[in-house]
Amino acid sequence: ALALPAAVYMLQEQEAHAAEMERTFIAIKPDGVQRGLISEIISRFERKGYKLVAVKIVIPSKDFAQKHYHDLSERPFFNGLCEFLSSGPVLAMVWEGEGVIKYGRKLIGATDPQKSEPGTIRGDLAVVVGRYKHHSTEVMALRQRRMRLNCGSNQRKLVNYTSNAEKWVYG
Ligand code: ADP
Repeated sequence: ALALPAAVYMLQEQEAHAAEMERTFIAIKPDGVQRGLISEIISRFERKGYKLVAVKIVIPSKDFAQKHYHDLSERPFFNGLCEFLSSGPVLAMVWEGEGVIKYGRKLIGATDPQKSEPGTIRGDLAVVVGRYKHHSTEVMALRQRRMRLNCGSNQRKLVNYTSNAEKWVYG
């Protein structure tokens, strides 16, 4: 059961127990999940020394996606972005560590993968911004909002979905 307490999200951007400790919300969007990049992305944060304090896999509703990206609602790509976020499983996580809000951003790289430095997640693993609009991929979004990624009333329910990789794995 991967129930994620609402309180965890309420703590985003707030100091955790130690003076410099921070928590931040990071999500692997559907393309990252489907491309089998969960372990790669988690491992980069883990090896750095950050601590995973909450994790949950969900398929967000369109309505939830619109709330999540509320601050981008005036942008031309807003609708496509929300469609994309709710198109498949998303891995929602909360990471804790000193300076994780700012440095986590560095690990991920610039929003536009063409501008991300090599060595960053987007620099190494993605080609263009907005997978839903183009033919390549974006990998992660770092959201630092005080909101819950609560996409259903029964958080203990396992998520059923078909992985694109399954046909290659099982033949
Ligand atoms: P980030 O995901 O790097 O934190 P933002 O919060 O600014 O960036 O944007 C959220 C998401 O909106 C991005 O991950 C990307 O999918 C999409 N997005 C942002 N800017 C653009 C753009 N110019 N064209 C298409 N999609 C965009």
